[in-house]
Amino acid sequence: MTDLPFRTQVWAIPLRDRFRGITVREGMLIEGTAGWAEWSPFVEYDDAEVANWLRCALEAAAGDWAPPVRTEVPVNVTVPAASPERAAEIVRTSGLTTAKVKVGEVLAEDVERVAAVRDALGPAGRIRVDVNGLWTVDEAPAAIRLLDAAAGGLEYVEQPCATVQDLAAVRRRVDVPIAADESIRRAEDPYLVRELEAADIAILKVQPLGGVRACLRIAEDIGLPVVVSSALESSVGLAAGFALARALPELPYACGLASDALFAPTAESHPAASAVRTQWWEDRLRRVYAHV
Ligand SMILES: [Mg+2]
Repeated sequence: MTDLPFRTQVWAIPLRDRFRGITVREGMLIEGTAGWAEWSPFVEYDDAEVANWLRCALEAAAGDWAPPVRTEVPVNVTVPAASPERAAEIVRTSGLTTAKVKVGEVLAEDVERVAAVRDALGPAGRIRVDVNGLWTVDEAPAAIRLLDAAAGGLEYVEQPCATVQDLAAVRRRVDVPIAADESIRRAEDPYLVRELEAADIAILKVQPLGGVRACLRIAEDIGLPVVVSSALESSVGLAAGFALARALPELPYACGLASDALFAPTAESHPAASAVRTQWWEDRLRRVYAHV
């Protein structure tokens, strides 16, 4: 196996609430000439899929980011599929004025969660919902209208259906703007979204798309407003997302880069991973690094 030319550190941090089906987030830090960078592809992803994630980490480790055009980046609070009471608590403790609410499993619960978030935010706050592709093209329009009413106006709906074709169909049946997230994960994806006019907004995540400079190229090619979002990185990885948000020519929406709030405090427990998990990550990195 390839010997790695840099120091690494594997971490494992518990989440406050179950998110994406996991309760502990793992990742790896890689030390480069510019300091520590994060490589944290989800554990179920195969080696081919995570090469872009490593390109992002190596770009960060080398300090090879595009120059910033702004110093401040607005961010949203992320509300998992929690009870209305927990959702309101998460929004209140965040102190933020834009909330992204996870929906798509049980519509009646989604309506209650979104209404509770509106109460917690007050009338001036902004609410967007993220469906993670869970609705069919026939379910989506009615669900969007219900949640738009419960929110007193939605900023946008993220990935209401799984496919780009379905996003395009839903977009023609509702007035709420549509954002594409999972539909923009591979280098060729943005062109299909553009060709089918499937979205009003593009969600870009630096790790899956291969780094800050790769995302800037996509943003230019797709010609849509961009929301920079995280892939549930630690604060080290979030720095790459902020580098993109600071370098984009326009940034009209709050970004999903406050996701470190989903991590439980690590003050009492050291976030270093076990020896077994450390070995698993080191083996994974050696395999992927050999092909990047
Ligand atoms: Mg999303």
